[in-house]
Amino acid sequence: MTSAVDLDLWLSVLKRIEPKLDRGQFITWFKDTSILGREEGTLVIGLPLPIYLNWHLEHYRSMTLEALQEADATVSKIVYQVDGSLKDDIDRTLKLLEHFPENKKRKLPKKNEVKLAEGLTSKIFNNRYTLENFVVGPGNRLAHAACSAVAAQPGGKYNPLFLYGGVGLGKTHLLQATGNAILRQMPNALMLYTTTEEFTNQVVEAIKTQKMEQFRRRYRQIDVLIIDDVQFLANKDRTQEEFFHTFNALYEDHKQIIISSDRPPEELSGLEDRIVSRFERGMIADIQAPDYETRLAILSEKAREYELFIDAKVLQFIAEHVTKNVRELEGILMQAVAQYELEHRMPTIGSIAEIMQKLHKDPYEDEQQVGFEKQPERAHTFQDILEGVSRYYSVSVQDIIGSSRVREVLIPRQIAMFMSKKHLRMSYVRIGENFSHRDHTTVMHAVDKIDKKLQEDSQMLREVRAIEREIGVAK
Ligand code: ADP
Ligand code: MG
Repeated sequence: MTSAVDLDLWLSVLKRIEPKLDRGQFITWFKDTSILGREEGTLVIGLPLPIYLNWHLEHYRSMTLEALQEADATVSKIVYQVDGSLKDDIDRTLKLLEHFPENKKRKLPKKNEVKLAEGLTSKIFNNRYTLENFVVGPGNRLAHAACSAVAAQPGGKYNPLFLYGGVGLGKTHLLQATGNAILRQMPNALMLYTTTEEFTNQVVEAIKTQKMEQFRRRYRQIDVLIIDDVQFLANKDRTQEEFFHTFNALYEDHKQIIISSDRPPEELSGLEDRIVSRFERGMIADIQAPDYETRLAILSEKAREYELFIDAKVLQFIAEHVTKNVRELEGILMQAVAQYELEHRMPTIGSIAEIMQKLHKDPYEDEQQVGFEKQPERAHTFQDILEGVSRYYSVSVQDIIGSSRVREVLIPRQIAMFMSKKHLRMSYVRIGENFSHRDHTTVMHAVDKIDKKLQEDSQMLREVRAIEREIGVAK
């Protein structure tokens, strides 16, 4: 139960936060929050659902702590706790919202932005993201190396740099880390980091106010352009048009462009071909889900950052059970931190299992951007594919990835390459690396060949289907 004092305190905190957010954000993320309790300087803030946890940690934690400390100087720390009953307490929510009537005229100060030059704003760089604290493993090595190369020589060989990978695998981290690294060497560079959404808003605004010329001129002064989640450009024709011209102008001036997307360029449907082919001209690097060792290393790194002493066995347990997404790994660790700070309970395998159960009540992945097409089902790992193909054709994995040119292994090898592309969306370069460092053009050729054969060769189609069923990717 929240005490009257805590309610007042929370209201005054929300009053400080509300003007900094737009209304939709404020309502969505704060209407079902509350103070659940406190212990000395630590305040426990209740959130209605597990998905709020990461969002608050990432976007609102420092803002909330700051507001709290303004209202009550004895608060030194906040921790979050998920409490499902907050979501159902409609009366409480309505009462709370009465304090925040809608004011249509309110102009938003955009606190998370920084002005670069007249009419040019960038989102703020989060200096928590660096190239040094990004843990490198087989799934992201190429992407990290490419970012480091770009940071060393912006506008050089790797331009544009296009990173792609699933949600929560570190794209935004790498983008911002690269930006941070460039800014360290060139503090005066005009570096603009934006999301596709924000870019679109600006184009629309410029069209509305008939300031397109000005918009173009401004964007062309930029030294480094970083655009996150470019898949959202799909089907926005006018924005694509402007993007294309900005892109070309910067590219011709040897200005570095860095882009992220949830899928490779060739799969960006709804995007004009000429834009896709611009992307393909540069360096493309994929990010795959981390393997066990990398997950474990990421956990140790995060535990170190949060100064959490945690038993190696417990970290191993988390790394074994949370496999899809780094954000989720982090979320679980943060809950363990909260538990430790509140109850002085050292995380154990048992307590972590409890946390995981709580978090998984909700389909955690659905936190991902709304309106997203569902990803096709995928084999879990490259190893699954190799083993599936190996079993089916009775050819050893060694032979499949090896360099033997014996006829019996050629087709299985090409099928394994094809399946790596289809189900894991690995880049041609990476597939090549995994098959005894073959050139990416060899891989492209193999994938193409199997793709074509499957249209006409029903025997091969049956075989591939059987393997897909075996490894659990058949529809
Ligand atoms: P994306 O933009 O791909 O959805 P993010 O960059 O937001 O993913 O990553 C989600 C979280 O996981 C961030 O807090 C980020 O710091 C962390 N993260 C992801 N990959 C790594 C890694 N290899 N090493 C350290 N932290 C990582
Ligand atoms: Mg992101």
